[in-house]
Amino acid sequence: MIRTGSIIPAARKESITLAAEVIRKGGLVAFPTETVYGLGCDALNPEAVARVFEAKQRPSFDPLIVHIAEKTALDGLAQTISLSDQRLMERFWPGPLTLVLAKRARVPDLVTAGLPTVAVRMPAHPVAQRLIREAAVPIAAPSANPFGYVSPTCAQHVVDGLGARVDLVLDGGPCPLGVESTIASMVGSWPELLRPGSITLEEIREVVGSVVRAGVGLTTAAPGQLVRHYATRTPLTILAAHKVRSVVPLGERAGLLAMTPPRHRDNGYCTIEVLSPSGDLREAAKNLFAALRRLDAQGFDRLYAEPCDEQGLGLAIMDRLRRCSTPLT
Ligand code: AMP
Ligand code: MG
Repeated sequence: MIRTGSIIPAARKESITLAAEVIRKGGLVAFPTETVYGLGCDALNPEAVARVFEAKQRPSFDPLIVHIAEKTALDGLAQTISLSDQRLMERFWPGPLTLVLAKRARVPDLVTAGLPTVAVRMPAHPVAQRLIREAAVPIAAPSANPFGYVSPTCAQHVVDGLGARVDLVLDGGPCPLGVESTIASMVGSWPELLRPGSITLEEIREVVGSVVRAGVGLTTAAPGQLVRHYATRTPLTILAAHKVRSVVPLGERAGLLAMTPPRHRDNGYCTIEVLSPSGDLREAAKNLFAALRRLDAQGFDRLYAEPCDEQGLGLAIMDRLRRCSTPLT
């Protein structure tokens, strides 16, 4: 007998069979993808989708990404596929690129927050692929955490945030990439970057030429990309690049999120989390959310974060840090 909220190992075949059954019956399964853990349900079952919104306390204006395992599944979700869509899919699918396309009527309005478009992605993680195939339905899945908090990159993060609100958690170990998928809208005249992510703007430009970058805080084309998001409970301040040393006011208990090991040890921080000893952005992205959660758990007065250059993956890392650092209004 498996209890609600149980973590089961994804490596066992029976686990995937059970999880697929839960999905088909309208339940919620948290599963690993290469980006973060998703909270999945049958995308074509509006009641199941409503349970996802409820479990996450997610506002209904914030649409979900639909996950598929085969390109043929697109026919039932999107209307037409352009040449640019095809080229991006060929280059980046399966992988961390979400495409926003004109939707078909059978996609429930709740999934798309009433928009005429649907966001679709084909994850590369073998557990995600097996689950979608075995469930034999497209799986709608936002990140498996309470709305607005730091995204989960391991099974325990899911249980910490959602507990028994999830029917089952498939444990496939830590997520290899660690930041959410890149989202590109393909319904306008040019592809538009709605959210920077694991696939970089530079990589997309190589395939489709010009890409428009949506402004931070733009909420019409990208509902849900809120100015404050992915946020720790402890207030976080992004430092000026040269300020890592001794910014901590006297008496303040603070933690530092450093990109690389700081040169000075006498800097006043109670804890320092280093994202990548060698300064590798991939490693930094992979460690970002787990490090933020560890710092947040220590009850400090404030967290400080060292910035990185907004090139390649640095764009996604700085996007998440900015949203985390925006104060509650
Ligand atoms: P996540 O919460 O990480 O699963 O990301 C879902 C995000 O995808 C939402 O917050 C939206 O910003 C974006 N999204 C999903 N569907 C659409 C859509 N139809 N149009 C534009 N953005 C979308
Ligand atoms: Mg999310």
